[in-house]
Amino acid sequence: MADAPVDTATSVPVAVVGAGPAGLMLAHRLGRVGVETIVLDTRTRHEIETTQRAGILEADVARDLVETGVSDRILREGHEHEGTEIRFGGRAHRIHFKALVGESVWLYPQTDVFIDLADARDRDGGTVHFGVEDTEVLDVTTAAPRVRYTAADGSRHEIRARYVVGADGSRSMCRNLIPEDRRVRYGKEYPFAWFGIMAEAPRSAPELVYAHSDHGFALISQRTETVQRMYFQCDPDESVDAWSDDRIWETLQARVAGEDGFRLAEGPVLEKAVLRFRSFVQEPMRWGSMVLAGDAAHTVPPTGARGLNLALHDVKVLADVLLRALGDGGEAALDDYQPQALQRIWRAQNFSHWLTELLHTPPGASPFDRRRRLGELDNVVGTRAGRTYLSEQYTGWPVSAQG
Ligand SMILES: Cc1cc2nc3c(=O)[nH]c(=O)nc-3n(C[C@H](O)[C@H](O)[C@H](O)COP(=O)(O)OP(=O)(O)OC[C@H]3O[C@@H](n4cnc5c(N)ncnc54)[C@H](O)[C@@H]3O)c2cc1C
Repeated sequence: MADAPVDTATSVPVAVVGAGPAGLMLAHRLGRVGVETIVLDTRTRHEIETTQRAGILEADVARDLVETGVSDRILREGHEHEGTEIRFGGRAHRIHFKALVGESVWLYPQTDVFIDLADARDRDGGTVHFGVEDTEVLDVTTAAPRVRYTAADGSRHEIRARYVVGADGSRSMCRNLIPEDRRVRYGKEYPFAWFGIMAEAPRSAPELVYAHSDHGFALISQRTETVQRMYFQCDPDESVDAWSDDRIWETLQARVAGEDGFRLAEGPVLEKAVLRFRSFVQEPMRWGSMVLAGDAAHTVPPTGARGLNLALHDVKVLADVLLRALGDGGEAALDDYQPQALQRIWRAQNFSHWLTELLHTPPGASPFDRRRRLGELDNVVGTRAGRTYLSEQYTGWPVSAQG
């Protein structure tokens, strides 16, 4: 396949595998400084637009979407959250991010981030091919890597690039191009997953509600005035078919119940899925002329709402590094990417792991484990230091505050 004839061969400075937030934002940032890209994705635009994923953006990331000219729609249709609620022991505790650390987060679904980025590429004349097949990345250890693919109409194409970016998500094939004996994979599996639903119902709360209970974890999030997103802890092998709407609502209500009489507004369940997750980092994030970004290099459990934010931070660093590498800096400029990106990645790994362990109850937890966890929750919400730590971590770290 590597040398079979193709219908077209096109040369660009940077080829990007994956049109998720990392791939499209990188293409947008490079496009603004005159660097042409071609982005490929195996999924159709419609498929990506309709897959529910992240919902919380750091204020810094929201500002970047506006200030780099992607779109200011987030300011009109997004919701700024100045805090969040943590419920446990039947009581609610508000963590006021803005008062504690002067920052907030934005509720703005990943589907909208994607639509804004894809529209920006269209508007700016960027090239994105959706619905491709048979992506092959070749010659990454040379200065002339290539990407080959089959377009949606069955024709075969080759992109000749100076650099290739693997932004192909948590099942990345690009990261497998780094030989086994030259890469390290750090990771952790969890003995639980999330049962995620979209429901037609009014909002139950103005901000996200994270609930820890004897029955397990739940997260109450929002989408629109009439559609809400919620999750509860389940077994990784749980079958969605075993869950009627009634059973789902009973489970969620039990997990958020408290002495304040809080109840979720119920309605028909529109979508349901079991979402497995893990903690994962692959190093190195660069191999020859290929660089990894976003979920291709690292994934976090969704509890800390870091994944999308991290992906967008990676490409902020990477766009600058690639620009230098394509200019006077040469390939050596790429050496700056991993150390800068990794510091935030490991901070986010730690926070996501900590918050996941804090809020979930693992199967078989001993009475001691359960009581100790309540003690830790008390320490977090009951001390200014605890609330400040949670707020600082949840709202993200400014690029200037890496130290
Ligand atoms: C339930 C859930 C809730 C989440 N909540 C949050 C949250 O609140 N906040 C947050 O920050 N993050 C959250 N995340 C994580 C976030 O969704 C991801 O971290 C984010 O999508 C990473 O972006 P990416 O561009 O790196 O990867 P992706 O969005 O996965 O994009 C990768 C793209 O590459 C394409 N691709 C794969 N293989 C190939 C190939 N061979 N050729 C061409 N294209 C290919 C895929 O089709 C995909 O479109 C959540 C995730 C889940 C699952």
